[in-house]
Amino acid sequence: MKIDKILNEIDEIGEAHASSSAETPLRDDAFEVSDLEKIELIKQDVNSIMKTLGLDLTDDSLKGTPQRVAKMFVNEIFSGLDPKRKPKASTFDNKYKYGEMLVEKNITVYSTCEHHLLPIVGKAHVAYISNGSVVGLSKMNRIVDYFAKRPQVQERLTMQIVQELQRVLGTKDVACVIDAKHLCVNSRGIRDIESSTVTSEFGGAFKEKEVKREFLDYIKLDTTF
Ligand SMILES: [Zn+2]
Repeated sequence: MKIDKILNEIDEIGEAHASSSAETPLRDDAFEVSDLEKIELIKQDVNSIMKTLGLDLTDDSLKGTPQRVAKMFVNEIFSGLDPKRKPKASTFDNKYKYGEMLVEKNITVYSTCEHHLLPIVGKAHVAYISNGSVVGLSKMNRIVDYFAKRPQVQERLTMQIVQELQRVLGTKDVACVIDAKHLCVNSRGIRDIESSTVTSEFGGAFKEKEVKREFLDYIKLDTTF
């Protein structure tokens, strides 16, 4: 009974998609094991899951799956856990003295829900107002992608993108809106295929009503070229 109750509570926390902090909860020893060793360990774990499910791992179609999944976890979909992979924080002087907001919209987000390990797919819209330095446009996409490549909660992803750009640009005037579908909601559980989740984080000047409105108006612009 007691175990049942604990499992139910864990389930409820997952279904509520509650996040415990703005930091990704990593252990101190997270990088004591090399990527190659991680791939080997995860391969054994995936092997064990598939075996438990009753799958025949000698089948030609299945035998490579544990290795493929392990490589994909470490090198691709969870590669953003490793701070060594964080995009370099190079900025340039704002030579044009462009003082308006810059919006990078419709940045593709492929992330993974940390409660179910199922995909989160959506778009991020990021903006900042320069206070002297600017970043290359693709840097914003890279920062989104880096934090997306972790087990995530959408609220945390939104905050991490804003905090990183604030740090890189040396200004609080950064904002991010993410609109995304969670396959754990769309394909299982409540199975609502239509719903999507919108999260936002407005720093500095973006907290002001007019500035926020301007940003939200830009991201509504239709960009079919
Ligand atoms: Zn989920």
